[in-house]
Amino acid sequence: MKLREPGFVVAIDGTAGSGKSTTAKASARRLGFDYMDTGAMYRAMTLKVLETGTRITDKAGMARLLRATRIDLSWCKGRLWVKLDRRDVTSAIRTPEVTGYVSEVSAVPAVRDKMKVEQRRAALGRNLVCEGRDIGSVVFPDAGLKVYLDCDVPERAARRVAEWREDGMRTSRTSVTANLRRRDRLDSGRKVAPLVRVADAVLLDTTMLTIEEQVEIVCSLVRRRLALMERA
Ligand code: C5P
Repeated sequence: MKLREPGFVVAIDGTAGSGKSTTAKASARRLGFDYMDTGAMYRAMTLKVLETGTRITDKAGMARLLRATRIDLSWCKGRLWVKLDRRDVTSAIRTPEVTGYVSEVSAVPAVRDKMKVEQRRAALGRNLVCEGRDIGSVVFPDAGLKVYLDCDVPERAARRVAEWREDGMRTSRTSVTANLRRRDRLDSGRKVAPLVRVADAVLLDTTMLTIEEQVEIVCSLVRRRLALMERA
């Protein structure tokens, strides 16, 4: 029987490149929870918009496109796989082109409505670590734990450049820095579901933290909340 409610949700929001994915993935693994990367869903949608040449200002065209789009996330061989209309787009959604346009696409209200419905549906009956920009504020306002991650921009840019180099992509620190700042500005400034730190989120500045420390903090907060719930 499927539960009608989400299980324990850990909502991780924060600025671009602040370490959300790494922290969320490792915390989920350690806690035995599922992991949901909502940014990957917005990226997949952006890829579809680019491939079809749809203008995001064309309301009817966007509505048609959304109806005809299917995005699936799955976890296999220690990796998150993303499918767009059943095609593997795991790597294709990480290109500079998609990264450069994703904040425009994710500011479209109809896009956000579709993603929110799918994210809530996917959470039914599962314990979940979910990362994004509006998880604690909009998608799961009743999350068991909300964390807001931030990090100094130069440190974020250095980490991103290193990641991209590892994946064989060439980029400069200047363009990465510009993209991070631009996305933060667009994500925080949009009308619908902007990136905000909600009052009940724990702030975690990762500038001086190792990944292990970030993960340990999140996991111990979850364990403490679960213990309190059991006692209540
Ligand atoms: O997390 P990631 O950097 O991959 O997200 C890519 C983009 O998707 C963000 O810059 C933001 O524009 C959008 N996004 C969003 N809401 C979320 C997750 C991501 O608007 N919950």
